[in-house]
Amino acid sequence: MKTVIIGGIAGGLSAASQIKREQHDAQVIVLEKSGDVSYAACGMPYNLFYPDKPVEDLYALSLDAIRVERGIDYRQQHEVVAIDPARKEVTVMDHQLSREYRESYDYLVYACGNQPHRLNLPGFDAADVLYFKTLDDTRLVKRIIYEHAPATAILIGSGYTNLELVDVLYNMKITPIILEKAATILPSFAEEIRAKVLAKLEEKGIRLHTNADIIEKKGAVVRTASGDFEAGMVVVSIGVKPATALFAAAGGELGVGGAVKVDRYLRTNLPDVFAAGDCAEHYVRQLGRNGYMPLGPVANKQGRLAGSNIVNHSAMKEFYGIDQTAVFKFFDLTVATTGLSERQLQESGRQYVKSYVDTPTRGAFPGGGSMRIVLLFEKGTGLLFGGQMIGQDVVAKRLDVLATAIYKQMTVFELAELDLSYSPLYAPVWDPLLIAANKSIKDV
Ligand SMILES: Cc1cc2nc3c(=O)[nH]c(=O)nc-3n(C[C@H](O)[C@H](O)[C@H](O)COP(=O)(O)OP(=O)(O)OC[C@H]3O[C@@H](n4cnc5c(N)ncnc54)[C@H](O)[C@@H]3O)c2cc1C
Repeated sequence: MKTVIIGGIAGGLSAASQIKREQHDAQVIVLEKSGDVSYAACGMPYNLFYPDKPVEDLYALSLDAIRVERGIDYRQQHEVVAIDPARKEVTVMDHQLSREYRESYDYLVYACGNQPHRLNLPGFDAADVLYFKTLDDTRLVKRIIYEHAPATAILIGSGYTNLELVDVLYNMKITPIILEKAATILPSFAEEIRAKVLAKLEEKGIRLHTNADIIEKKGAVVRTASGDFEAGMVVVSIGVKPATALFAAAGGELGVGGAVKVDRYLRTNLPDVFAAGDCAEHYVRQLGRNGYMPLGPVANKQGRLAGSNIVNHSAMKEFYGIDQTAVFKFFDLTVATTGLSERQLQESGRQYVKSYVDTPTRGAFPGGGSMRIVLLFEKGTGLLFGGQMIGQDVVAKRLDVLATAIYKQMTVFELAELDLSYSPLYAPVWDPLLIAANKSIKDV
């Protein structure tokens, strides 16, 4: 059995590894157009701190380990330029040798990730406009930071990757200025959470310009309808689009958000072609349908399942889905979410109640902080729909408990009964999540 995988990062390498794990003698070829191997993009913002730490430290595995230990034929700088589903072949451009060749497959995994939306405005095609998406982008950002020492950076867009960058750049003594087209930031978060992020920006003296109507970039100046901003670097992060052109050109069907349409087995409409990761749809359990949530864990899980389903094609398993759990750091705050957002609840017409609490994160022990928990649940039954948290210290522990409760379809009554760990080093005697649940019970 011969499987060709297009894209060799989280989704692609997970699929390749799983095939080899389950069928040692299977032939697996990974075609990756960049010169890198699978890496943790999530670590890219934090690598910027270290001038001497090569970005290659973010590789998940060395090329040798992939080839020798895993037995995968991993080809860098090999870009697939066409898929022929009728002949079950791909056309590959080998950029190392500048030659084109065709490769046949029994199964194909499409794992091409996504691409940043470009800002199509005058001046934004300049080389100093940065998109922080790949390791090559990180190399470029590091070069600009360490060779040109910019005093100020303009960050266009205020999603989580740019907010992580704001934190990092500020701590590197580069003053960030955020330009956001919308009226506010983090629209999928409750206003109670957003308020804390906004307060942190204010505390740090970071300028956030919402409703920013950008006109053009001229040299180091970004012109907007409400004024000009000057900076030594400009990073654009205004959303992503699934990389599907190659797949669509072969007759592939697209679905939610323009991502590759997949069934629960991760099959596409093209025969024996599977898809995984940021290029594909993701099944959202609570909605009972596919959505789009491009994050690392889902890319790994989908890749692994696609690989397993290729080996076990007569006994395939369904992708169990996601609950939209995500977390990011913002200065001393951890910002986290799981389950349905208020926006999704409103869109799906569900009756929900929102309650929130502010609690300490530890008992009588130095080093603790405070956190805010927002719970969203069903009126009448208390069924948990979702929750969001922000605060110092051990926030992610609470979020993961809540994610588990949502997975098990628990109510706020059941959440309040959980036997959670206590020691003043880790929690107050009533864990913040129990306090939040007990408060919510009163509103059911
Ligand atoms: C700055 C940043 C921070 C992040 N932080 C987090 C985080 O904290 N938590 C989290 O869960 N997620 C995070 N993510 C998202 C996470 O990195 C992605 O969800 C994950 O990398 C998706 O993996 P993937 O394999 O689907 O796609 P990608 O990682 O995009 O890989 C796709 C690969 O396909 C290759 N490719 C595309 N077209 C072709 C072609 N025609 N031929 C050959 N190869 C091709 C590309 O070169 C690319 O290397 C972050 C992402 C970024 C950019």
